[in-house]
Amino acid sequence: MIKQLDDKYVLPTYARQNINFVEGKNATLKDDKGDEYIDFTSGIAVVSVGHSNDRLNRAISDQIAKMIHISNLYQIEPQAKCAERLVTLSGYDMKCFFGNSGAEANEGAIKIARKYGEVDGEPKRYKIITLEHSFHGRTITTVKATGQESMHNYFGPFPDGFVYAQNIEQIESLIDEHTVAVMIELVQGEGGVQPLDRQKVKVLADMLKKKGVLLIVDEVQTGVYRTGEFLASNLYDIEPDIITLAKGLGGGVPIGVVMTSKKDVLKAGDHGSTFGGNYLSTTAGNTVLDILSELKDSGELDHTFIYFEEQLNKFYETNKRLFLDSVGFGLMRGLRVKDADTLSLIISSCSKEGVMVLKAGKNTLRFLPALTISKKEIDEGFKRLNKAVKDL
Ligand SMILES: *Cc1c(COP(=O)(O)O)cnc(C)c1O
Repeated sequence: MIKQLDDKYVLPTYARQNINFVEGKNATLKDDKGDEYIDFTSGIAVVSVGHSNDRLNRAISDQIAKMIHISNLYQIEPQAKCAERLVTLSGYDMKCFFGNSGAEANEGAIKIARKYGEVDGEPKRYKIITLEHSFHGRTITTVKATGQESMHNYFGPFPDGFVYAQNIEQIESLIDEHTVAVMIELVQGEGGVQPLDRQKVKVLADMLKKKGVLLIVDEVQTGVYRTGEFLASNLYDIEPDIITLAKGLGGGVPIGVVMTSKKDVLKAGDHGSTFGGNYLSTTAGNTVLDILSELKDSGELDHTFIYFEEQLNKFYETNKRLFLDSVGFGLMRGLRVKDADTLSLIISSCSKEGVMVLKAGKNTLRFLPALTISKKEIDEGFKRLNKAVKDL
């Protein structure tokens, strides 16, 4: 029934699986047939505090009983508090702008960089260097910022000024007098769970500071404790000029943020968002930050990371015939599968066994579970994974 409606009325932009989930608790989901699934995806790194988190539900319910939205023309208490929290947790001297998604956060980052390059003396600078295999979003500009040729079919003409580096070492040679910024993910997510080398990133960050080229770090996927620290930028020990966040921050409520140390570039009227930072989304953001920062401070989050890594590596070692490598940090993990066909088989078999996993890049089996996932759920998930690959 739902599939018929979907087929008839929803544009077919996704290769959807025909599963209809009806409810969830933490990292366990139930479909309309009553079958249970272990969720190693958390809605692509979004449901960071698990499904139907009681504390998040209560905070949202209390807020929406009062008001959901007023507009950015008035003071918004949870938005101001969320900005303070983000700046404090990041450890960087920055200010925030709130939108609704990762792509929108990256649009904001690109606008800040472009305006900075426009007003910061002659010659005017506008070029932004990004990496091959990156992913920065689906709007016309962020799709152009994305270093994947296959995503540049059909939608042109695109905005000018995006330059792609094959790897981090090549960036310096691509900088010219018109380059204003470099935009990177520290662990490429959609591109296949590709962590950049820490030392090379430090060298890059130093070189950019010396040249006055801005460093934008797209933390839409890596941010909010996904890789173990509050930001991957903290883990890599660098000081970006602009950072973007989205996925995990709202626990499922749409939210996107661009934070920058260039606090005076955007003036009133330069940028905006009708929904951005409203009572609903920033209340969710504040509660997610409370829950996760407490988990981190108590040491529990690190225990979960270690336990998940142990189980993942056990699974990897016992199934080496299928895999080439185990990659990633924290709860952003991947197993390189020996070929893309085997990966497809694994994913469909996992679905039958009741464990949800993701594909990334060409041949990476990706894991992005809720940061609140329990040991029991991790054990059950890997039990099902083992079953799923048994005959492959
Ligand atoms: C998901 C993602 C985006 C896009 O976020 P949307 O909310 O889908 O617009 C951008 N950058 C990275 C690194 C992502 O993982």
